[in-house]
Amino acid sequence: MSSIFTRIVNGEIPSAKVYEDDHTFAFMDIHPASRGHTLVICKEEYPDLLTTPAELVAAVAITTRRVAQAIVAALQPDGFNIVQNNGAAAGQVVFHYHVHIIPRWEGDRAVRGWEPGTANMAELHELASLISAQIKTS
Ligand code: 5GP
Repeated sequence: MSSIFTRIVNGEIPSAKVYEDDHTFAFMDIHPASRGHTLVICKEEYPDLLTTPAELVAAVAITTRRVAQAIVAALQPDGFNIVQNNGAAAGQVVFHYHVHIIPRWEGDRAVRGWEPGTANMAELHELASLISAQIKTS
């Protein structure tokens, strides 16, 4: 069964389209966190960042930058957040890889941040070793 975003790309569900090219599609989020909240998706359906081929992640990144430039020009926000959720625990609801562009205005509280934690350098080095040992370069 196709995702809701595939159905949007195919025109089966209406959307307010912002941009489209061979591999990517951008449209307004139906439940915006702020005025101008836009989603950028890969047309081909993959659940998340890690399952999407790298070249398509790159295509989405280029479109995200292009659309963010347009949002800044059109709406003049004070800033914007790029949000990309992977997994239900991280708040992902639609399992079709997508990026949120959320324009921000001073004091709007549109996106909640995290509470900064504490760590020591020994712990950070240990974590860095664990992670770097798993890095795949091809
Ligand atoms: P996630 O939490 O998966 O990162 O975000 C999914 C986003 O898709 C949500 O912000 C939600 O408002 C948006 N969304 C879900 N269904 C639709 C829809 O049918 N149309 C549009 N335009 N946005 C949708």
